[in-house]
Parts: sequence; C-alpha cells; structure tokens
Amino acid sequence: MQYETVIGLEVHCELSTKSKIFCGCTTKFGGAPNTHVCPVCAGMPGTLPVLNRAVVEYAVRAGLATNCQITQANKFDRKNYFYPDLPKAYQISQLYFPICTEGYVTLSSGKRVRLREIHMEEDAGKLVHDDWTGGSLADYNRCGVPLLEIVSQPDLRGAEEALEFLGKLKAVLEYTGVSDCKMQEGSLRADVNLSVRPVGATEFGTRTEMKNINSLRAIGRAIAAEAQRQIDLIEEGGAVAQETRRWDDDKALSYVMRSKEDAQDYKYFPEPDLPPIEISKEEIERARSALPELPEAKKARYINALGLSEYDANSITSSVYLARLFDHTAEITGDPKESANWVMGEVLRLLQKTGTQPEDMAFDPDSLWKLIRLVKNNTINRGTAKRVFAAVFATNVSPEDYVKEHNLALVTDDSALRAKIAEVLAANKKSVDEYKAGKTQAFQFLIGQSMKALNGQAPAQEVTKILRELLG
Ligand SMILES: [Zn+2]
Repeated sequence: MQYETVIGLEVHCELSTKSKIFCGCTTKFGGAPNTHVCPVCAGMPGTLPVLNRAVVEYAVRAGLATNCQITQANKFDRKNYFYPDLPKAYQISQLYFPICTEGYVTLSSGKRVRLREIHMEEDAGKLVHDDWTGGSLADYNRCGVPLLEIVSQPDLRGAEEALEFLGKLKAVLEYTGVSDCKMQEGSLRADVNLSVRPVGATEFGTRTEMKNINSLRAIGRAIAAEAQRQIDLIEEGGAVAQETRRWDDDKALSYVMRSKEDAQDYKYFPEPDLPPIEISKEEIERARSALPELPEAKKARYINALGLSEYDANSITSSVYLARLFDHTAEITGDPKESANWVMGEVLRLLQKTGTQPEDMAFDPDSLWKLIRLVKNNTINRGTAKRVFAAVFATNVSPEDYVKEHNLALVTDDSALRAKIAEVLAANKKSVDEYKAGKTQAFQFLIGQSMKALNGQAPAQEVTKILRELLG
C-alpha cells in the first residue's frame, strides 16, 4: 500500500530581546552556570513576574510577518508540571488566548501552510548530566528567556515540505530581527507531530510527537525514520500508539519518553500574577508599517528589478545575512549580476567548505565590493581575486592590503610587459619557429609561458596583443 506522511510542527524560537520575559536578567547565550539568574527567574517563592513589553512587540512582528491575526486582548496562563529544569514547577505560557492566530507561510509551490497560532512563553533551564558522579546538575541561565511557540496545522506532507517550511519560517524570523535562529545554540528547535495514512484516506492516523529536535538535518532524518516505523507497524498488523518520543540523531532512532499527555494533564489556569495584555489597533498598524522587506518581496525584486535568476534569488534570500551582503555590494558596485555571482560562487563555496553558517561570516561586508572594484579597474584578475577573497573570508584582511602585501597587482606597464614577453620568446625559439611555420598551437603555448613568467599578473588580452606584435 502507498502511504502519505502527515506532519504538523511546533517551532520554538528564542527571542533576541536583551532581557528575559519576566525579569531584567540578560538573555545572552552561555555564561557560567547560574550566573544569569535572579530570584524571579530562579522561581523563588514570593517573587512576582513583570512582563517585558518588548516580547509583545516581537510577537506582534512575527505574527504580522506570517500573515496572522493579532489578538488585541490576550493573556498568560499557567501550565503546571514538575521538572528539575523548571524551578517554579509551572511555566507561564498562553493557552486560551494566544497572541497570534490563523497565519500562514507560503511554500515555493504556492501551497499555504497554515499556522494555528503563535504564543508567548518562558523557556526552561538546562540539565547537565554528569557521567562522573551519575547525577544531574541544573543550570537556570536559560530560565525565563522569552520564547515564541509557532504551531502549524498538519498541512505538511513529508520531510521535504517540512524542511522548506522551516527554512522559510527561519528566514522570516531572521529578517524581522525576532530571533537569531541559531539552531546550534537551541534558539530554534522543533517538535514534530507525525502520522501516516493510506494515500487517498481523509481521516488522520494516530500521531506521535518527537520533541525538541534542533538541526534541520536531524529533523529530516527523524521524519523519514518515524514515518517508516509507523508504516512497518501498520503493515505488521499493529497500531500506532499516541506517545511522545525522543529522537536520538546519533543512533538514528527514536524511543518512547511517555504516553501522550493532553492539555488537561497540565491543569492550565489563567496566570494570576500578570494583568491581561492589551494591544491597540494603532500599535498593530505601526508594527505593520515598520516591517522590513520580507524574503518573498525581496526575492521578487531581485528577479524583476535586478534580473537575477529565480535560483540565485531563492538562495540569496534564504538567509538575511546573505541578502544583506548582496544588497550592500550590489548597491555600491551598481552591478547586481556580478555581486550575485560572487555571493553564489565564492561566498557560498567557502561557507560550505568551512562549515560556517551565514550568520557567522566574520569579514567586513565592504570587502566584497572593494574586491569587485579591484577586478573592474584591472588591478587584479579574476583568478587572483578568488585567492584574495579566500584570505578575506578567513582572516578579514582588507583586499587592498592583501594585494599590496603579496604583490598581486597586475603588471600593466607596457614596457615591463614587453620586456618579460621578449625574454619568453628568446627562451622558446623552437615554438617561435613552429608558430612562424603555421602551427597555431604554438601560439597558445607561448601565451601560457608568458602568463607563467608574469605569475598570472597581467591582463590576458594585453599579453596576447603584445605577443602578436612581437611575433610579427
Ligand atoms: Zn532573572
């Protein structure tokens, strides 16, 4: 039988606000354990939360950028559960009136993946398992870092769509400055709700949930493995149990954490320590008009106004950091085509080769247009420019300095070129004779020898011209 995989995602993203959601502690990643904490986020009895209003602004921005309705009167609820990384024994979240509802993200096929809601909540701490003593240690630095939980409808079919959706969502969150989306630091992670059903069926199968997967690669692998596990179960005459599973990416398998709890197990109730949140129409409209150019609009502009191919426009807009580098370079050089060639060529090649994420590019964004200018004004040729860019990428050296230090500028002085080429002809008498006897390959050989003698630092056209003159 043919099966189809049905997926809904719950994406958790940490906001880029400077301070935590209910206290003034920093949200900075890392730090010595339990140094970014105060009595409020450490869950001490008798403390009271105070809402960081920036969190509401960020949530509205994320909602507007994903076509959501904004709930003007929303409020927080208390989700009760005990876990050692949650010192209050409850999490402040939103259940009854989430801040954003009914949005969507459009895939490149034109398909709309509906968002059921986006709600605000606080992150929990982190347990560090100590293999030496066999115990666990709690680090509460992350407690109270503001989170958005973005919940999709089960509209995704298979890993490819799920990954495209995540990529588009990640780009929107980066463009709007809502989150840095550093998956390796846990700023963006997803729970995967997955079921399978025979192709053509209208009812959903029983779903499982895989918690907290924090790399795109792992999400893709988890989806493929879980779909196959469910199909095998059904084919063997068994039934899928509704449960929460943990994906172990190293072992490439998932195992049961617990049978699925329902919302009622958390005994949610309205958070009594925080007043309701009011968002005015004016506030929403102000946020809407302050939205930056979003990936889809940027992509359309690259194609229609700048003449980029759809493929290039797609790749460059997939990351706000690549798009910013491209925009800056294209604007100053006035040459979008050449700027795109560099971003799509050397920039992507070196990112891939060094395993660097676009957000971690460390070179001065002015270096790229400076490099393009060096090629355009014939100071260096393309081959040399690639070599210079590799140095810029690795050490953030200025391209001009690097060219000077390594003496890479082209020899454009005519008499110097002529002298060098004359030497080459003198040393290759046999080829000169062959050329004069009508052998055209000999000319190519002499060009090669001349460029070699000039260390490739001469304009090829110029070398060809002088060679022809000297050979008569
Ligand atoms: Zn605090």
